[in-house]
Amino acid sequence: MEKGHTMRTPEQIAEQCEQIALDDHLGEVTKWREETGGHAAGHLPVYTPREVIDAAGMLPVGVVGSGEMEIIRGDAYFQSYICHLPRSVVEMGLTGRLDSLDAMIFPATCDVIRNLSGMWKLLFPEKLVHYLDVPHNHDPEVGGVFYAGELRRLAKDLSKISGVEVTDDALRTAIEKRNESRRLMRKLFDLRSDSPEKVPTSELYVLMRAGFQMPQDAHDALVKEYYEAALASSRPEFDNARVVVIGSFCEQPPIGLIRTLEKAGCYIVDDDLLLGAHFILDDLELEGDPFTTLAKSWFDHARSMPSRFVPDEVKGEYLVQLTKKRQAEGVIFAAPSFCDPALLEQPMLQDALERAGIAHTSFKYAENNGQFHPILEQAGTFTDSIKLWSEAS
Ligand code: SF4
Repeated sequence: MEKGHTMRTPEQIAEQCEQIALDDHLGEVTKWREETGGHAAGHLPVYTPREVIDAAGMLPVGVVGSGEMEIIRGDAYFQSYICHLPRSVVEMGLTGRLDSLDAMIFPATCDVIRNLSGMWKLLFPEKLVHYLDVPHNHDPEVGGVFYAGELRRLAKDLSKISGVEVTDDALRTAIEKRNESRRLMRKLFDLRSDSPEKVPTSELYVLMRAGFQMPQDAHDALVKEYYEAALASSRPEFDNARVVVIGSFCEQPPIGLIRTLEKAGCYIVDDDLLLGAHFILDDLELEGDPFTTLAKSWFDHARSMPSRFVPDEVKGEYLVQLTKKRQAEGVIFAAPSFCDPALLEQPMLQDALERAGIAHTSFKYAENNGQFHPILEQAGTFTDSIKLWSEAS
């Protein structure tokens, strides 16, 4: 640290991140555009390789909806029995909150997001709308070639906006830089697991989410600063239950819900919140064709999730292994209401946990929930039962 510079506390850094992360007017993105004159591309959940956007000279911006604002027009576009995310994304678009974005990328996550991409074309014909398909065939010569082609198509589309051609060298550099960001995030995830009292998930979450609106270098600097501050902190350790939270990979729960779980006695030691930010698990290779490297990462380096089909995958095995690796005592399924991908997979994951003797509980949420008392009681009962059970055995 520079001489004379006072170290900020983790709370202070988290407070700054929360302001950025939950600003549904994308104030940081607007500021970046004004300062640099650059272009920005939004990407919906779950996962878009941000390297392609970086290499096109644009700012990648994660658009994950918002539970903070009143939905006035967004509801009129959807039936009542689907999740909340598309309503808030449409509301953000119609109210000008996404005006700072020159393009929107819709990855093939589910029918809702696919339909939203079509709707976006009708609503915002002046903007680039790109639907990014993903491979279901894991043969590198088939699915791999297909996905690399999809990423090349994305690169061409973005280049038309930014005027910057995506060269192989630029893409390799972007992969190398994102490898560094992923390394920083992994270190932080490991610190959370080793000392969960030092890294509350409510802080880690806003830190991650702020990165969806910030240039990579600035965000990496924040992550490093938070890591050092958290490591140096002396927060008291409680006899909480170590849990993994799963199901929140797309529509995000309100921050109040994450805090409620912590208040209920949970140390969240791993999760799939904002999964697009930590979907790739390892460093990607820098040799060879970079589009093929990114395409292969879908098969070889990605986390298990419902919208990533893997032939021969034993559903739930990944979750069991993750729970063991993090020495978690239980799993909380927290999925958005009406989220087909999460809720269709959930029974298979629960079966796998049952077979492995791992305790679990489940509830549903919407991004705009404001009442957390029932969840406080449910999660509190769950953590109490884990603790009592482990003491009795
Ligand atoms: S919350 Fe679920 S159903 Fe809704 S858009 Fe996301 S993945 Fe699709």
